[in-house]
Amino acid sequence: MNHPTSSEPTHDSPPNLQGRLEQYVRALEASGHRGSATPHEERAADYLVQQLQQIGLEGHKEHFRSYSSYGARILVHIFVGVLGLAVLPWSTAIGALLSVVAFASLQAESITRFRILSRLLPTSQSCNVVARVPASGGQVARRLILCAHIDTQRAGLIWSALFVRPFSYIFARIPGPLRAPLFSLTLALAVQIVLGALIAAGVKITDYVAIALSIYYAGALLLVGQWSIGKFVPGGCDNASGVAAALVLASRWRQQLPSDVELVVLLPGSEEVGSLGAAAWLDANQANLAKTPTRFLNLDTLGYGAPHCIATGCTLSGPQYRYPRDLLGRCAAVAERLGLSDAVGSGPPTPTDGVAFLSRGIPGLTIMTFQKGFYVPNLHQMSDTAERMDFDIAAQTTEFAWEVLQDLAN
Ligand SMILES: [Zn+2]
Repeated sequence: MNHPTSSEPTHDSPPNLQGRLEQYVRALEASGHRGSATPHEERAADYLVQQLQQIGLEGHKEHFRSYSSYGARILVHIFVGVLGLAVLPWSTAIGALLSVVAFASLQAESITRFRILSRLLPTSQSCNVVARVPASGGQVARRLILCAHIDTQRAGLIWSALFVRPFSYIFARIPGPLRAPLFSLTLALAVQIVLGALIAAGVKITDYVAIALSIYYAGALLLVGQWSIGKFVPGGCDNASGVAAALVLASRWRQQLPSDVELVVLLPGSEEVGSLGAAAWLDANQANLAKTPTRFLNLDTLGYGAPHCIATGCTLSGPQYRYPRDLLGRCAAVAERLGLSDAVGSGPPTPTDGVAFLSRGIPGLTIMTFQKGFYVPNLHQMSDTAERMDFDIAAQTTEFAWEVLQDLAN
């Protein structure tokens, strides 16, 4: 990616926060996309290492194996589910086993802890950008991880406003696993497992259940299939905005280092294919993380509506992770101090890197922005560009995140 040097933000220019954020976002957008596990993502990572250097931080890339399509990872699960359903009339045992494997793998993969059926897919190289900002004193009492993903999602019909607007409006209000975007697939596989058990028990089953499942799978194959090969989006708001804010926060942190708190700036790749970058980094640093009390602040999509700190980490298939109540309470106090109303609570029912931390028992918070009705305009669409973003909101959210980051350090 050829970033025009003239537009690269420097330590103290441009003078206002909005302008600085916009310059980072436009520079990241310059290559057209930063698709997960593609050379474009890698070039964005190179650019970010340079930018970290400009603010006085030693950043480096850390590589891991990943995928360039989340849709493809889901398709594998649908295929195995369809195979299970097709086999059921001939071999109940094999049909039920395939259904159980698809169900279990979908849950395990969506909480980011394991990869099972995705291992059938070819992998490619992805990378995280990491910079450590040591505490100014000798003793490290706490560690903060400032996280914002680099990569961009593929576009697809599934992300059109026609689907996303009503889905966000309704599902964000539903508690529990029902709100997950792919809960319907979890449900279909569960029904299929029950179906297998009933057939094995000699219960006579009407064909209507299998017909309903077939219709569901056909629709899912079409929608997910179309998304799985979609074009990568520019990702201005999702998530060049979060990365830009993280760079601003890291620069401020460096200027007033606390004596006993270490800051890790983690800019993961492959969030859009299931938080694989954050998961890879957390797993690789598991032993070290256990030694020092650690909290995270995740920034994702900061350019529309109003700043929010979400209360629940939603996975794709159903499991939900509650953000720690004490941290949410402190965040609400920060929001009140800044005059932000309704800043802490429910969010759009889509997964973020926050799930990778919460599923590993690391407490923290995720800050994002959305409009009324939990709607994020242009999400995962080709229209997600700097042009359409509101940089006043991005700046306001960055200030909110800065206050929250300092609060987390205490
Ligand atoms: Zn995102």
